This record gives sequence, structure tokens and C-alpha cells, in this order.
Amino acid sequence: MSELDLRSMVRDVPDFPKEGIVFKDLMPLIKDAAAFHESIDLLAEWARPRRPDAVLGAEARGFIFGGALAYVLGCGFVPARKPGKLPWQTVDATYELEYGTDRLEMHADAVGEGSRVIVLDDVLATGGTARAKIDLVEGLGGEVVGALFVIELAFLHGRERLHGYDVHALLTF
Ligand code: AMP
Repeated sequence: MSELDLRSMVRDVPDFPKEGIVFKDLMPLIKDAAAFHESIDLLAEWARPRRPDAVLGAEARGFIFGGALAYVLGCGFVPARKPGKLPWQTVDATYELEYGTDRLEMHADAVGEGSRVIVLDDVLATGGTARAKIDLVEGLGGEVVGALFVIELAFLHGRERLHGYDVHALLTF
């Protein structure tokens, strides 16, 4: 399956969740067995040499790609969640989105001192979410060995907020 095939399975949804935002809907790609398989394999190919101990993904699409990726890599998965969802002691970070502000929480014992972590998301937009996840990992003493995305929206320059980190996206729009 080519990059073009994968690109063709990303659906543009204009004015969602707010007017003026073109939402990149990955559900057509995820529901296609070959495309989902190929995207996880490509993510794993990039991530494997970085020898992560864990993949960190935020709900909800970060769970879908992150869980599958962690399984393929043979490493752990660490969730970041919306406030109030995690049962144990948490640490949190507030960040700005392309369409508003939000807060993410992680379990305080989710990342150990010196743990090698790949932060993963479906879309790199302004970079605020990824930046918050990096801050959470580093606040717990972990090392971010990569910031990995299925899609990068290059016109939003999210990469600039991740300066100094190893950043990769499968598809750039
Ligand atoms: P950001 O923090 O601005 O990089 O935004 C990234 C997060 O918001 C990701 O978790 C995405 O799922 C979501 N997101 C932001 N913009 C879009 C978009 N245009 N299409 C799909 N998801 C988006």
C-alpha cells in the first residue's frame, strides 16, 4: 500500500468541530484492514530504532494507534486522558488547541525516571498537545525519544513548538 493510498483514506470534514477548521478524519483509514496495518507498520519502523520503553497516547485516537503500535514494538502503553478519567494520582498539563484550550492528565507513576518514551498522536496541528505530553513525561523524569504522528498539518507549524525533538509524521498536508 502506497503513501498515496493512505492519503486517499483521510477524509476532510470542513467546519468540524468549529467553523473554519478542516478536520482530518482518520476513521476511513482505521477501518480498512490493509491501511491500518500499513500505518502501524510504518510508525513502528520509525519508532523501533529509538528503543522506547513506552508509547504515550492521548484519548481517543491516540489510544487506537498507540495501543497497536506498543503491541508491535513490544513495549508498554501509557495513556494521557481528559481530566477526571484516571483513577490513580495524576499529574496534569494545560495546553492550547487549534480550536480552544484543554487539559491532559497522566498517572503520576506512568513514566519512570529515565524511561524512553515515544509521544504519539493522530494529528500534529499547532503542537500544543504534543508539547503538553512532552512536559508531562519530562516532569516525571522520562526521556522523550520521539514525537510521532500519522498526519502533520505543516501550515500550522507545530514542528516549531517541538524544536530539539525527533519529530516524524507519516503524511504531511
Ligand atoms: P495540536 O495540539 O494543535 O497539535 O492539536 C493536535 C490534537 O488536536 C490532536 O490530538 C488532534 O487529534 C486534534 N486536531 C487538531 N486539529 C485537527 C484537525 N484539523 N483534524 C483532526 N484533528 C485535529
